[in-house]
Amino acid sequence: MDTRISGKTRLLGVFGTPIKHSGSPVMYNFSFNYYGIDCVYLAFDCGESQMKDSLTAMRRLNMRGGNVTMPCKQEAARNMDKLSPAAKFVGAVNTIVNDGGILTGHNTDGTGVVLDLKDHGKTIQNKKIVLLGAGGAATAIMVQCALDGAKSVTVFNRGAAALEKAEKIGEKMKKEGVSCSLDYHLLSAEELLTESVRQGDILINATSVGMAPMNEGQSLVTDMRAFHEDLVVYDVIYNPEITKLMKDAAENGCRKENIIGGKGMLLWQGACAFQLFSGLEMPVHELKEFLEKREKEGIPVLRDIVHE
Ligand code: NAD
Repeated sequence: MDTRISGKTRLLGVFGTPIKHSGSPVMYNFSFNYYGIDCVYLAFDCGESQMKDSLTAMRRLNMRGGNVTMPCKQEAARNMDKLSPAAKFVGAVNTIVNDGGILTGHNTDGTGVVLDLKDHGKTIQNKKIVLLGAGGAATAIMVQCALDGAKSVTVFNRGAAALEKAEKIGEKMKKEGVSCSLDYHLLSAEELLTESVRQGDILINATSVGMAPMNEGQSLVTDMRAFHEDLVVYDVIYNPEITKLMKDAAENGCRKENIIGGKGMLLWQGACAFQLFSGLEMPVHELKEFLEKREKEGIPVLRDIVHE
């Protein structure tokens, strides 16, 4: 029995479905334990149509907050009292903070990438970013990079519909004074993609291309002339740890220390959420050690911590 639990213990949780695989309870409970914070974190199976009731429960039970995963992120955003700038532009919430019944929705997916890059000594300020994808993760990354001072974000996506959605978000940001230059292209514009990466500072893959098991061994950058010595390559994919994109980048002139996989994004989006819940820094490095130990013991947790 956990000796931390008392009459004053506050509850948090992750909402979505399926949810039993979630590694979030391990990550947040480890961090609450680390500081001796009187909170517990659980996983709640919740479909989109049940999200509104779950938010009523969050208020009624005076929960401190929680996280939201598929398929509830947009529905959660529609039912917040307040939204952070990123959550407002993206229209999706993955973190909720409850302050006396006022629910504020945040989106920490993009911050996860920005903080992970920072942890690797890379900043995005004034950088030319090429972003592959226009889905949920990509849109959050586009918005956060623009809000955090990237010089430009050039988005490439397979389909036109998601690209148009991203463009609408970009127009809203522009109207509100975000100065980052944003461009949108189809992936079929292959030469433009190669040239944009050649001229770019940071390439981010935010598609599922490269992910095991279905898309492993695939990459959207097929012209190896795109890679260059100063390019930072970030792949949101965390399984496998080294994707084809990362391998190609390493074999075609990119420096090893500039090639980063998506494992850290999982931790850093959580670290950002933990700070919002507690005002404290998540003990990321201790947590990493703990998770690596669990992994070695055959109890993988890390790859399941994702609020997609
Ligand atoms: P999504 O379904 O919203 O978007 C998927 C994107 O991939 C779209 O842009 C789609 O066009 C693109 N895509 C899929 N197959 C493609 C193909 N064959 N060719 C070209 N483009 C293709 O999903 P999402 O939530 O944005 O997630 C995208 C990826 O990011 C997933 O693999 C997910 O596991 C990963 N992710 C990682 C983290 C992390 O913490 N590392 C967090 C969120 C998402």
